[in-house]
Amino acid sequence: MLIIMNREATHEQIQNVVAYIESLGLRAHEIPGESRTAIGITGNQGALPAAQFEELPGVVQAVRVTKSFKLVSRETKPEDTIVQVGDVRIGGTELTVIAGPCSVESREQIFKSAELVKRSGAQLLRGGAFKPRTSPYSFRGLGKQALDWIQSAGKEYDLPVVSEVVDIESCEMALPYVDVLQVGARNMQNFTLIEIVARSGKPILLKRGPAASLDELLNAAEYILSIGNYNVILCERGIRGFSDFSRNTLDLNIVPAVKEASHLPIIVDPSHGTGHRKMVSPLARAAVAAGADGLIVEMHPDPDHALSDGYQSLYPTQLDGMIDSLRQIAPAVGRTLNPRP
Ligand code: PEP
Ligand code: MN
Repeated sequence: MLIIMNREATHEQIQNVVAYIESLGLRAHEIPGESRTAIGITGNQGALPAAQFEELPGVVQAVRVTKSFKLVSRETKPEDTIVQVGDVRIGGTELTVIAGPCSVESREQIFKSAELVKRSGAQLLRGGAFKPRTSPYSFRGLGKQALDWIQSAGKEYDLPVVSEVVDIESCEMALPYVDVLQVGARNMQNFTLIEIVARSGKPILLKRGPAASLDELLNAAEYILSIGNYNVILCERGIRGFSDFSRNTLDLNIVPAVKEASHLPIIVDPSHGTGHRKMVSPLARAAVAAGADGLIVEMHPDPDHALSDGYQSLYPTQLDGMIDSLRQIAPAVGRTLNPRP
């Protein structure tokens, strides 16, 4: 249920409603909006009678939310959510580009990557320390050592850092080092992991599972919001199709679908979505044209010798070129992309 407060509702009236909800053993989520505050209720089994809330001072209406996901829904919050990571705002008019290697491989490699990412005009640095790999014999990341290096590289070049966590241990380990915790496609419905990650309070990049529906993606995000972490960035990274020319099929259809159903920002990963570096820039441009809030792309200083996902990693100059072309497309869809530093 969603409680809509009067435009002029006072802080005390809002707190009174929150306290009443909590006295029923339920959870209240304050959702401040441009024109009014709403309060989402979760934790109820079955429908709640609206009248008991509508009698409280400052309440305009108690509305039943019809979708299985509630807090992520546009019904609950009409305004777009902006996730703030350091000085970067994800989900506003400015496009966000996250770039970096699939994996952190050495101190030198991640520092060089950070320098190149900064030069390109991208705003965040990515790099995996814990790699879920298809084969158990593939490179699986350098763990804590990688976290330490990527944090230092991010600080050196003033880039907030994104890295994936795969279980409780890696989540605890990553917390002091990273600015955004990535939950990978394979773990999108690992709800025990998602709840642990959510409790950290850090912004979360939630990647869509390769066979997940829109409803499943948004319900996975709902797990995070329902425990009080509202900083979720969704990510389309390709679904399993029958394509014999690409690793996955980038499903850009989901961008406008998410925009309609949810207030959360959505970015697109054309690297995993295509699996081929020559396809990354064209699909990045299509993603921006379709209304994505940003991109996450793999770039490696020496992709031909990368320990993971080299064939889909951009050469540094390709990243520069991709961002330059996005800068031209951005205004056509009401967006901006900052000039290179
Ligand atoms: C990654 O970002 O390197 C990654 C493994 O992504 P995904 O979970 O989308 O496969
Ligand atoms: Mn990768």
